[in-house]
Amino acid sequence: MIAAWSQPHARKRARKRHNSQAASSPPHRLASRPHHADTVRTPGNPGACAMAKKLSAKQQAFIDEYKINAQRFQRLVDRSSGNDACWPFTGAKDPAGYGRYHVGRSRSSSMLSHRVAFGLAYGYLPEAVCHQCDNPECCNPAHLFGGTRAINNRDMADKGRCARVKAALWGEKHHQARLTDKDAEAIKTRYLAGGVSQRALATQHGVSQRTINKIVRGISFRKQSDHEVTT
Ligand SMILES: [Zn+2]
Repeated sequence: MIAAWSQPHARKRARKRHNSQAASSPPHRLASRPHHADTVRTPGNPGACAMAKKLSAKQQAFIDEYKINAQRFQRLVDRSSGNDACWPFTGAKDPAGYGRYHVGRSRSSSMLSHRVAFGLAYGYLPEAVCHQCDNPECCNPAHLFGGTRAINNRDMADKGRCARVKAALWGEKHHQARLTDKDAEAIKTRYLAGGVSQRALATQHGVSQRTINKIVRGISFRKQSDHEVTT
């Protein structure tokens, strides 16, 4: 069944078949899928051999749902260092170092490689997939655990990664920033001194009042030292 995906014609036929099935039968799969939003799972090492074994119904459902070419994905994961080591993704990466894998759900859709790895191993996708090894490109399911987004944020903050990412994205380093950190500092001082409205400052600097409001409340353009990691 999976081998068929590597043949373009077979893929087309399979998609046609899939679509006609979807049209004629009710979406029972969604209803029967378990809800894992709040579960945290720290697996042993089932993923190491997961792909060598026959796929479970859950794993196949995951592949079908996201239209993933599982064999191609597995070829992009470097397992040469052994079962317990990190398995780096050798395909495309985003600026933060996370692997990106194209999936067939739509022409432009891609998924984070570690999310694909988790889904292929366990047959479901939790809200967030976190790395125990703190290695963004790692796709060893044994190094991954699922949780909620809140847990992921806390985990990232604990590891100091969150602060580093934010520091790169905030303030004048943000790709859309029109004001320098110096401008922001001056705006804040000027506003706190009184006698000028946020709207007036916005017009003066050619930005929205919302932007000024954020600066005044210290939400954006905080000093770089606020973000630095002490570890
Ligand atoms: Zn790892």
